Amino acid sequence: MSESLFINSVYKANLTDMYKLLVSSKINIHECHDSRGMNALHIGSLNGNLSVVKFLLMYSRKVYKSPDMVKDWNNEKSEEGFIPAHFAAYRGYIEILKELINAGADLYARNNQGLSLMHVAAQGDQALVLVYLKNLGLDPFSLDNKNSFPLHWAAYMGCETSTAVLLAWGCDTEGQDDDGHTPLHLATIAGNSRIIRNLLIKGAKRSVKDKKEQRPVDIAIRENNKNLIHLLKEVKVIDECCLKPPLRKPQPSYLSLTSFIVLFCIGTLVNLVLRTDHKNYTTYAYGAIIFFSDLFFVLLLSKDPGYLKAKPEKDLLKLYTNYENYLVCPDCQVYRPARSRHCQSCDKCVEKFDHHCPWVNNCIGAKNLGLFFTFINLVWLSLMFTIALNIYAMIEHMESNIISMPNEVDMAFSIIFIVIAFIFAIPLTLLLIVHYKNFINNRTTNERFSKSGNESKVSSYTVSFENKRMGCWRNFIDMCCNMTKHNRINEEKPTNQSVESSYYEVMERLKLVGED
Ligand SMILES: [Zn+2]
Ligand SMILES: [Zn+2]
Repeated sequence: MSESLFINSVYKANLTDMYKLLVSSKINIHECHDSRGMNALHIGSLNGNLSVVKFLLMYSRKVYKSPDMVKDWNNEKSEEGFIPAHFAAYRGYIEILKELINAGADLYARNNQGLSLMHVAAQGDQALVLVYLKNLGLDPFSLDNKNSFPLHWAAYMGCETSTAVLLAWGCDTEGQDDDGHTPLHLATIAGNSRIIRNLLIKGAKRSVKDKKEQRPVDIAIRENNKNLIHLLKEVKVIDECCLKPPLRKPQPSYLSLTSFIVLFCIGTLVNLVLRTDHKNYTTYAYGAIIFFSDLFFVLLLSKDPGYLKAKPEKDLLKLYTNYENYLVCPDCQVYRPARSRHCQSCDKCVEKFDHHCPWVNNCIGAKNLGLFFTFINLVWLSLMFTIALNIYAMIEHMESNIISMPNEVDMAFSIIFIVIAFIFAIPLTLLLIVHYKNFINNRTTNERFSKSGNESKVSSYTVSFENKRMGCWRNFIDMCCNMTKHNRINEEKPTNQSVESSYYEVMERLKLVGED
C-alpha cells in the first residue's frame, strides 16, 4: 500500500510526500514499482523531473550506503527492458541523463529490442543527447536486434534533426535492416520529404529493394504521395536537363561554368572584331563593359561568398546546448546566424545566402552579393550593346576596321548575334528585375522563394530575423555592402532544467537522515 502511494507521489513529482512516505513507512525505495515494472528512477526520468531523480539518488546513497545497490537500481530494467537512462535520452533530459550516468548507468544498456541509448536518442530527435553520447565514446553506427542503425529509427520516426546529425557523422545510407529497409524506405513510410531530401543529398540510392522487392518509390506510389513519387522516381537522362535537376550527392561540375566562359568569349571576340570602328566611340564603351564584365566574373569566381567557419571553442555539444536545434548546422558545426543557410552544392553554410550560381560555380552570399549584382548588370549591358551595335551595323552598313566581308555575310552575322543576345537577355532581364526588387526590399532570393516567407520562426533555416525596414535606398546599400547584421528573434535556447525550491527543503531534511 505504502509502495503504491510512494509511486503515486513520484508520478506527481511531490518531493515532500515522497520524503514523508519514505521516512514514516520505512519502505524500501528499490522495491517500489508501477504496473509496468518501472521503478521510481524510471518514472522520474520519463517525466523529466530533475529534482525527483536527484532526490531519489541521494536518498538511496544516504540510506542504503551501498554504491552497488544504487548502481543496480539505476540499471534495473522495465518490462520492455529499458533502464532509466533510456527514458532520459529519449526525452532529451540531458541533466537527468548526466545524473544517471554519474550514478553508474550502463552506457551500453540495451532494451528487449536491442535499442541502445543512441537508438532512443535518435528516436526522440535529441541532437544534444546524441552528441553527448558520442563524446562519451558511444557508437552511432550500432545495430539493434533487427539490424537497424539509429539512422533507421530517426528516418522512421520522422526525426529531422537526429537524421541530419547522424548523416553529418557519415552514417551509412545503404544499410538494410532485417526487412531489407534502408533509411530511405523508412523515411518514405514516415512520409517525411525533408528527411528524404537530406538522405538523397547524402548519397542514398533510389534503386535499393527491400525483402518484398519494393523500392522507396513503390511505397510512395502505394501511398499515392505525389510529392514523394517525384523525389524518389528513378532519374532519367531527360531529368538532368530540367531547370531543377534531381537531388543527389553534389559533385563538382564545371559544365555550366565552361559553357558560359566559351559562349561569352566567342560572342565578345567576334563582336569586337566585326564591330570595332575607330571612328565610333561607342565601340570603346562596348570594349570597356566587356573588360569590366570579365573582371567582375574573375572576382566572383574567386571570392569567398561568406562561408561560416567552425570555431574550435564552440563544438557541437556547446552549440546544441546553447541554441535551438534548427539554428545549428551539424555538417559545418556552426551556429547559423540570421539569413544564413547550408548550400548543398558547396556543402558549406553561407552567411546571407542568396543562391548557388552554377554559371560562376560559386555561392552568392553576404560577401559577394554586391559583386554579383554589378556583374549581372554589366552582362545585361553588354547584351544590350551587342543588340544595339548589330542593329546599327545593319542599318548603316558599318564596316569593320579589322576584317571586311561581303554585305550578306555581315548581315547574317548581325542577325545571329541579335537572336543569341535576345535569347540570353530575356532570362537575364527577369533575373535583374528579381534582384532589383530583392535589393529594394532587403531580401535575398532564398528568402523571396522560401515557402514560409519572412515571418515564420522555425520552418525555414534562414528566416526569423528582425528585418529592419530602412527605406529603399538604404536597403539597397545594405544588400550591396552587407552593412547590417540582422539578429534572430528568440535565438537563445530556453534555460536548462533546474531543480525546484522544494528539492532544497527536502535535501536539508535528508541531511539529518544521513546523520541518524
Ligand atoms: Zn552547413
Ligand atoms: Zn553554393
